[in-house]
Amino acid sequence: MNRKGILVVVSGFSGVGKGTLMKLLTERYGHYALSISATTRTPREGEVDGREYFFKSRDEFETLIAEDRLIEYAEYCGNYYGTPRDYVEDQMEQGRDVVLEIEIQGALKVKQKYPETLLLFVMPPDAETLASRLRGRGSETEDVIHSRLARAVQEAEGVEQYDYMIINDVLDESVEKLHYLIESQHYKINRNLDFIEQIRSEVRVFAKGE
Ligand code: 5GP
Repeated sequence: MNRKGILVVVSGFSGVGKGTLMKLLTERYGHYALSISATTRTPREGEVDGREYFFKSRDEFETLIAEDRLIEYAEYCGNYYGTPRDYVEDQMEQGRDVVLEIEIQGALKVKQKYPETLLLFVMPPDAETLASRLRGRGSETEDVIHSRLARAVQEAEGVEQYDYMIINDVLDESVEKLHYLIESQHYKINRNLDFIEQIRSEVRVFAKGE
């Protein structure tokens, strides 16, 4: 069977718990590679350069753009965010499923470049949960929280272009759903045409009794 790596985009409202979901997914299953983005936003408390993000100045980021070293990039709430190309391509070649946790403009650019990309959207169980999770994070001012909630409303409009949604209510179940949605892509007929053809020709040999 074809185990070529799958490219997966996970998007969802700020504060919906994507980061925790990704962390658990990669801890639980060893074959996922989580892409680390470059950004011009300032690190939050506890974030480490090269772990959550590669933190860059605007000049450094614009050099990455000019040298075509990003698969996609977008501006979100006044900062640049982008996906480094080398890591994603290397990991997919090695057969790992690569997960990008990015926002919608970037997601749609990735889908254009790599049409087989699986687009997943993480939803909160309800709006109240989302707002209280954002406040609970404690690392952002009310202004930033409002700008993120406003952006969330905008993003909900593009969700029709995604393939599946996951309602992040019970974290443990969400991780399993995420894993099985990705896993199912490996079994798509159009990803396995070579394998199917091989079985067909082997069966033909049996049918002829050779
Ligand atoms: P945060 O500042 O909360 O870490 O991220 C803000 C938004 O930027 C999130 O929706 C996150 O998914 C998105 N994001 C993170 N990395 C990238 C990236 O490389 N490209 C794009 N387009 N969006 C990203």
